[in-house]
Amino acid sequence: MEFIPTKTIVSSYNENPNWFGINYNMNIYKGCCHGCIYCDSRSSCYQIVDFDRVRIKENAIEIIRKELQSKRKKGVIGTGAMSDPYNPFEGKYKLTRQALKLIDEYRFGIGIATKSNLITRDIDLLKRIQSHSPMIVKMTITTFDDKLCKKIEKNICTSNERFKAIKELSDNNIYTGVLLMPLLPFINDNEENIKNIIRKAYECGAKFVFTYGLGVTLRKNQREYYLEQLRKIFPKENLDKVYMETFGERYENPSPNSTHLWHIFKCECEKYNILYKMEDIINDYKNKYERKQISWF
Ligand code: SF4
Repeated sequence: MEFIPTKTIVSSYNENPNWFGINYNMNIYKGCCHGCIYCDSRSSCYQIVDFDRVRIKENAIEIIRKELQSKRKKGVIGTGAMSDPYNPFEGKYKLTRQALKLIDEYRFGIGIATKSNLITRDIDLLKRIQSHSPMIVKMTITTFDDKLCKKIEKNICTSNERFKAIKELSDNNIYTGVLLMPLLPFINDNEENIKNIIRKAYECGAKFVFTYGLGVTLRKNQREYYLEQLRKIFPKENLDKVYMETFGERYENPSPNSTHLWHIFKCECEKYNILYKMEDIINDYKNKYERKQISWF
């Protein structure tokens, strides 16, 4: 394992103030080995060389402690945007777990995005944080089909195992939902997939299912990697050519069926009484703390 020097780990999050009500961003690891073929963090704008190799930020826990001590405003710390906080090395190094202990100690909230069922290891800490501050777990599930999952997200647990994790978290009253994104045109952008994921999310006790754009965004480097993987995974379908003919080098690559799929998505969420609008999700997981403790923010 390589340890890399760093000055900051918990930074203010200004990118999109409405993104799950996140106030700060935290990445303890650099790079991710989960192998999602569509990963945006591979884009050249982030300048992460050898993205699939995980590195640890040196003295991460000491740095996080100092940063939390010095923050004047409490808030929700988001993690999982650039690298999954529950990569396979987390099992040994327990850095995400140690960071959660600090987040609990300094009474911040937490928003975790992951694709790993290792998160259930930390249910005890998530419960503690949730007892005083907003807490949300976003489990990304893009396909109901475990065989497809193993092709497009090859080094992580299957969708079925992620649903089991959602059930375990929900059974422990941890506020949990599904990030159903990206939808890859011509691959998982179909009605059956969306319906199955929402139904199963409901059965597992998920509070929300969120999707955005009903497609995939592709940037330099990320696009080349993605198209290369399509050639390897679907050699007969010529999907790389279909993508270039349909989207060229555009950043946004929506499903050709996106209007219909959005209608299905919305109807299914409403049928199961599952939240799907960002503002409703934020209100639902944050509001009771704001009412209880005006000074929290
Ligand atoms: S888990 Fe997230 S950060 Fe890791 S490869 Fe997949 S999309 Fe990228």
